[in-house]
Amino acid sequence: MPIDDDDRLDRARQALRDHGCQVLLVTPSADLRYLTGYPAHALERLTCLVLPVDGEATLVVPRLERPAAEVATEGIAIVDYPDGADAWALIPPAAGRVAVADSMPARHLVPFQRRWPEARWETAGPILGPLRAVKSAAEVEALAEAGAAIDRVHQRMHLWLEPGRTEAAVAADIAAAIRQEGHATADFTIVASGPNGASPHHGSSDRVIQAGDPVVVDIGGTMPSGYCSDCTRTYVVGATAPDDFLAYYGALQEAQRASVAAVAPGVTAEHLDAVARDQLTAAGFGDAFLHRTGHGIGLEGHEDPYIVEGNRTPLTEGMVFSIEPGVYLTGRHGARIEDIVACTAAGPRLLNTTSTDLTYL
Ligand code: ZN
Ligand code: ZN
Ligand code: ZN
Repeated sequence: MPIDDDDRLDRARQALRDHGCQVLLVTPSADLRYLTGYPAHALERLTCLVLPVDGEATLVVPRLERPAAEVATEGIAIVDYPDGADAWALIPPAAGRVAVADSMPARHLVPFQRRWPEARWETAGPILGPLRAVKSAAEVEALAEAGAAIDRVHQRMHLWLEPGRTEAAVAADIAAAIRQEGHATADFTIVASGPNGASPHHGSSDRVIQAGDPVVVDIGGTMPSGYCSDCTRTYVVGATAPDDFLAYYGALQEAQRASVAAVAPGVTAEHLDAVARDQLTAAGFGDAFLHRTGHGIGLEGHEDPYIVEGNRTPLTEGMVFSIEPGVYLTGRHGARIEDIVACTAAGPRLLNTTSTDLTYL
């Protein structure tokens, strides 16, 4: 079962109807977990939810997966098949518009396309993305738990981050702590010291951290609930930060705060991006802010709504997303501050609550 019983299959059928689609096909993915509660792994064997716009859902699974599927799903008819059988033949071909989960592998999609010559194929992202973007109260709480867990990891950073250690060694300690603090998996550990901080998706390396380095630490994992965490803080280790770093950190902190403060129902996603970008531009660092301001988060680390210029989606209560402006000076250093924020009727609710003040370790 999904995290709570909020008629997800019915809402998906309604969205299919609104898009003029006859049927939805979903292989193992966050979409499948969202709709059925089944956290199936993507395998070479076909597992597929078939949801007709008018009719009952069916879950086609390999016979050996049936027990796990039965435990996870409730009220969904399961059809299984033995190894060697033609799994696609179990699903009657549809005509008209067929929506396919964005992440369906080609080896599963192409056999459908061969067998369903009357179908027109569409990605399900525009149908399921808006559903998943608006979280139920239980989902917001699951994301708050994830946020609290990653906050506890940031609070322990002084144990690991110090001059003389490599980024990779620090990242390994952080990954272990992400699991210790309650995540099922550690999904990413960016430890970007000194000049590496200018690369937003650096990862970690064998670089030895130097006294006075600013270090961008962007970390996250997935909780047993399936919901994700993602939080960035920038630290300075061992000595005072360089002056040209201090020249922008304060402006970044204010830009991030202003964007968070602007969160409210009815405000567009792109407005939040503009708030952060305008402030950094006014401070002279607009060109150094290389990416969008944020992304939705839920069963996936990146999902709707994207906080980016051009996204005129009005925020609604229940949307949860990151606000993560950054400044990146090639060859020198960088900084990013990232919090996960829930949009409530009363405005922003921060799901990460550690201080964004520059922290010296
Ligand atoms: Zn990112
Ligand atoms: Zn992040
Ligand atoms: Zn993020």
